[in-house]
Amino acid sequence: MDYVSTRGQAPKLDFEEVLLAGLARDGGLYLPEHWPTFEPDRIASLAGRPFHEVAVEVIHPFVGNAVGRAALIDMAGEAYSSFGHAAVTPLVQIDCNRFILELFHGPTLAFKDVAMQLLARLMNHVLQKRGSKATIVGATSGDTGGAAIEAFRGASNVDVFILYPDGRVSDVQRRMMTTPTEKNVHAVAVRGTFDDCQAQVKAMFNNHGFRDRVQLSGVNSINWARIVAQITYYFVAATALGAPHRRVSFSVPTGNFGDIFAGYAAKKMGLPIDKLVIASNENDILPRTLATGGYEMRRVVATTSPSMDIQISSNFERYLFEASGRDAEGVRRQMESLKQSRRFELDAKVAAAMGSDFLAASASEAEVAGCVRKVLSGSGYLIEPHTACGVHACERTLQGEDKSVPQVVLSTAHPAKFPDAIEEITGSRPGLPARLQTLMSDTERFSVLENDEAAIQAFVEENARAIIAGG
Ligand SMILES: *Cc1c(COP(=O)(O)O)cnc(C)c1O
Repeated sequence: MDYVSTRGQAPKLDFEEVLLAGLARDGGLYLPEHWPTFEPDRIASLAGRPFHEVAVEVIHPFVGNAVGRAALIDMAGEAYSSFGHAAVTPLVQIDCNRFILELFHGPTLAFKDVAMQLLARLMNHVLQKRGSKATIVGATSGDTGGAAIEAFRGASNVDVFILYPDGRVSDVQRRMMTTPTEKNVHAVAVRGTFDDCQAQVKAMFNNHGFRDRVQLSGVNSINWARIVAQITYYFVAATALGAPHRRVSFSVPTGNFGDIFAGYAAKKMGLPIDKLVIASNENDILPRTLATGGYEMRRVVATTSPSMDIQISSNFERYLFEASGRDAEGVRRQMESLKQSRRFELDAKVAAAMGSDFLAASASEAEVAGCVRKVLSGSGYLIEPHTACGVHACERTLQGEDKSVPQVVLSTAHPAKFPDAIEEITGSRPGLPARLQTLMSDTERFSVLENDEAAIQAFVEENARAIIAGG
């Protein structure tokens, strides 16, 4: 399978190259040249099978010859054995026709584990095959860093450096990054803000000498392999609820448009998804775009669902490309406009397509709190704020819809990951699951660095193995 850039000016790559490259050289994002499609019989055959088997069926067509099927089976088996639930992503019913899809049973209690656990193994495998090593750098405001460190700990061909703002992530989030003891993972507390950390990562990628010396690579949400891995749970949930013989709707808390794009991809592949709902918090750029036809950046406001406090929805570019009939020139024009004036207009055709592909709603902080309490009193089930945005959007948009179509809300984090917000809303503090009981007492290991480009790059060069081996 070959991949093309949304901006049309980068060479076509295969899966292996896309996996290691992340962003395309022309600044665009990669998409498969065409979508693999599954006939109803093939979809029906996935029902009730173990998660890792469904993952192999769904992912293999995207991988092509880059990774052998047997190797993929091994990697998927290993990746999902790190989850604390036999079903990996179980469904829980909270209302007559409404279900929660729990995506938080991975090692860092957030849905990013589902993709990252597999991505890490794929990357390590591909590097092994090539006889090379890579250095991954990333900035995190909380969730992504822990998921990356957990996924790559002990990987033989990859070193990981995660920059986080010193003193500005929660204790649980920090400990998920600082307690793994493997020498190839490095938590770096930067004396600065999340934006400073992000700027430092960007500076590393822009320093071409440095980038080549340490074989720099990234695992942020624009990496195609992450999206692909997220398609699996749409198939798992939909077939559990009766697909392909029954349509299913999904409501997805999203900021970067990654998780919802995976749902869109599942639909393209033939999964009978009825409605796809974009759920946001007060940072509502996506619902505004759907309502007005204009994509317009505003200032980010801090909410109780911090992983969706985003004003640039990177993966939306993939949708623009698809919905415009793969008009790379149009995408380039719109991205240029975004850079110049922080906004662009959707073409009439794209605006119409978006209106038929998606519904959308945003939740205020008061609505998030109200929703957590309502679900708790109605079904005894505790959700956290990101998930509450999903339930709220479901209520707002699917109220008058066909009741025989099950509504699935993606739950992107475990309540224990946001104990302060939950205590504030419900009056009681959620505890960590049993398998994480030692997290708060394990020894921490991290380095504190000034927000200084030279110091940070020197630290990475001193500690990365790719230099010695990769040249
Ligand atoms: C990352 C994250 C999201 C948003 O994911 P997108 O990639 O923006 O779709 C939602 N909830 C939680 C808990 C997250 O960590």
